[in-house]
Amino acid sequence: MGDLCVRSVLVTGANRGIGLGFVQQLLGMPSPPQWVFAGCQDPKGQRAQVSGHSPPHLASAEVTDPASIQAAAASVGERLKGSGLNLLINNAAVLKVNSLDTETLKDMSEVYATNTIAPLLLSQAFLPLLKKAAQGNPGSGLSCSKAAIVNMSSTAGSIQDLYLWQYGQALSYRCSKAALNMLTRCQSMGYREHGILCVALHPGWVRTDMGGTLEDQVREFLSVGGMLKVLSSLSEKDTGTFLNWEGKVMAW
Ligand code: NDP
Repeated sequence: MGDLCVRSVLVTGANRGIGLGFVQQLLGMPSPPQWVFAGCQDPKGQRAQVSGHSPPHLASAEVTDPASIQAAAASVGERLKGSGLNLLINNAAVLKVNSLDTETLKDMSEVYATNTIAPLLLSQAFLPLLKKAAQGNPGSGLSCSKAAIVNMSSTAGSIQDLYLWQYGQALSYRCSKAALNMLTRCQSMGYREHGILCVALHPGWVRTDMGGTLEDQVREFLSVGGMLKVLSSLSEKDTGTFLNWEGKVMAW
């Protein structure tokens, strides 16, 4: 399992939690990517103080706003000066703790827009840059070092497992992640011919604002480190799969 070797990465929802962990660990690699774009809905806001020895390039990306997504793609494309984007990590998400009884049109729509529709629109908007990366790296087979879309899913969206149902129904969140898994499969079918690998990842149950702070949860740096290792190992056979942070195949 080699190191992930990429020139450019964009991570959405990168101002805190797992997204921030990705940015920090990518920048801390022995051979870091030349371009790490930290997508934040408000890059000038308090919550976007992504610090470090070599700060990432901030990209304004409110992922439920198509105009903001288009502007982010244009700005990233401009800064890459003709080269492509190797890795798009669709990480931003929201969770509402509603149940079967309390779910609403408004909450369900918001969760679906952020967790499912946004990864679709971001992938569409960044497709030309991902294709360019794949074309610029014509080696055989698919890999994350070449071009990839990583959709941050959750085993909460697994229809077979119904993970942590007793802990919370989180209906809209579960449905949004089940749909994201299907989106990942569809993207893998459609984008294979363009040389783009597509994968859905479950990060584990991680200590973040979303995940909570239970003692037995996976620490964010372990989860992100594990996912980076998994990404570095993926090849042709893995496109369209649903894996966890340790590389284990998850039930759809
Ligand atoms: P957090 O709640 O800690 O962070 C969510 C991130 O998404 C924040 O940066 C937030 O930005 C951003 N975000 C939310 N809405 C938008 C939007 N409309 N536009 C742009 N950015 C937005 O979540 P985690 O770090 O825990 O989760 C990261 C990913 O991992 C998610 O996809 C989640 O579903 C998944 N996951 C997490 C698990 C866990 O245990 N933590 C378990 C399984 C899956 P802002 O600060 O501006 O709100």
